Amino acid sequence: MQREDTAVISLRGIGLTYPGPPPVTALHPCDLQVGQGEFVTIVGPSGSGKSSLLNIVGLLDTPTRGDYFLDGIDTATVSDAQRAALRSERIGFVFQSFHLLPHRSAQENVELAMVYQRVPRAVRRRRAADVLTRVGLGHRVQGLPTQLSGGERQRVAIARALVAEPSLVLCDEPTGNLDSDTASSVLDLLDELHADGMTILVITHDTHVAARGQRTITIRDGALTETRRSEVSTPC
Ligand code: ADP
Ligand code: MG
Repeated sequence: MQREDTAVISLRGIGLTYPGPPPVTALHPCDLQVGQGEFVTIVGPSGSGKSSLLNIVGLLDTPTRGDYFLDGIDTATVSDAQRAALRSERIGFVFQSFHLLPHRSAQENVELAMVYQRVPRAVRRRRAADVLTRVGLGHRVQGLPTQLSGGERQRVAIARALVAEPSLVLCDEPTGNLDSDTASSVLDLLDELHADGMTILVITHDTHVAARGQRTITIRDGALTETRRSEVSTPC
């Protein structure tokens, strides 16, 4: 695997056209760099290309043009198995609808994220308990998802995303199913993780959520425009 970039995410001239027919250009060629420890939000209306971008960054889809470097690794040069390993080891996913296994406890849901790594069971158990404590759920480790509130479920999902110590936490509408107070406390947790040095990318249609980022990038009709807090610039 080739390494040649220090950013966690480096998209260079990335574009995506779905073949159709008819072909649909979901992303126009764009550049995006996310450095280690940054908290970046991407905001755009429905149909603007958010999921397409998320799928590329999350190694769930491949761009039709351009280059994507994750931790300096040219993702076009890796095998399918290496790609799957990059995804599970370096990216923690947090989804709107939590994606927890319903018949497993919070503890088990988090432990399962380490199942493909060669981590002994006792270590998995301890790490899961530690990270659940980190997200404020040390007292609910045995709770089933159905017995937890929406905010608690999302905390379990965040714990699961963190437990393998990823390079990047990638969140897709992380507060989309939460009431505004609960959403705010989940966003506070992301702020804390950012303060601890975690690299976070949040994709959302909600401008209030987007405002939590250190940098916010707007996506419209498949084109990215960056608004820095104190200036306006266009990365592509
Ligand atoms: P968002 O997540 O912001 O709602 P998407 O990335 O899902 O936007 O979609 C961007 C554009 O690409 C839309 O015009 C959508 O209809 C189109 N699109 C998404 N997925 C496909 C697909 N598999 N095939 C063809 N067009 C698609
Ligand atoms: Mg979408």
